[in-house]
Amino acid sequence: MRQFLCRKGTLTSHTYECVDWQANGKALKSMSFGERIWATKFVSGFNGCAKMMVRCKQWESDICPQCGSCIESNWHVLWCTDSKAKSQRHQLTVNFDIWMTENQTHPALHRLIIMILQQGDTTSFSRCAQRNIDPQITALVQEQDEIGMKNFFHGRISRKWSVLQDQHLRVNVSRSRRSGTSWAAGMIRMIYRWGHAQWKSRNDAVHKKDNEIAEVRLMNDTDQKIIKEFSSGFSGIRAGDQYVYDGLDVEDVLTRRHEDKLVWLRHIEAVRKRATRAESTQMDQMRTFMERWKKRRKR
Ligand SMILES: [Zn+2]
Repeated sequence: MRQFLCRKGTLTSHTYECVDWQANGKALKSMSFGERIWATKFVSGFNGCAKMMVRCKQWESDICPQCGSCIESNWHVLWCTDSKAKSQRHQLTVNFDIWMTENQTHPALHRLIIMILQQGDTTSFSRCAQRNIDPQITALVQEQDEIGMKNFFHGRISRKWSVLQDQHLRVNVSRSRRSGTSWAAGMIRMIYRWGHAQWKSRNDAVHKKDNEIAEVRLMNDTDQKIIKEFSSGFSGIRAGDQYVYDGLDVEDVLTRRHEDKLVWLRHIEAVRKRATRAESTQMDQMRTFMERWKKRRKR
């Protein structure tokens, strides 16, 4: 694992040592099977963003299907500027805020995390904590910046988070049974859920668009069939069934509701089938008559 991450350039051998792997493992263990699968895909970059879909030759465009303003990478899904995506991110951040209050989070860490959730794509931990003079906080933000912003959202946080939280619980929260590590595990789980929820709604938006395209295609297909039926006209329809076109022109049918168009097409198909059946019965009767006639001549 260590060699793999260092070879990929995700972490250096120094920053690998700084990551709180214990809290990360604890967080993953407390998540559902589906959430764990998602987290593995997300962290490894195999989550099916547009950039990846183009690389796998599944999609033609790598533009974000939500905002349409830039290439959609795994990272972009967390920071999409589409209005729906933004308001959902805001709501998720509010939920994160509530969780931190309920879990007696160290006030400086609390503030820092909220700032990162709001502007993580354009800022750094050091910049968010520049007004804080606590040397322990300074050391934390420097280390987390070394580990990296993307790694933070991939659940790789500095071990200093849990140390600071632990101190805070011991000094300021009387009779707290929680440890800094269990708080850090909960915080990592919240980070994963914050990203997962954004991915889920992005996927819903993509599927909704796919369904709309499929529907338009189906409508076009139906219209094509109707036009073809009108160009074939009465040929292949028995005289008794020709009323199906009575007083109708192609526009009358094309302007109907989609379900009504399908009903009309089914009706036409049925009368054409009836004509084909009748024709083949007639041919059979003729063939039988000819064979009998030939036999009679031979005798
Ligand atoms: Zn976008």
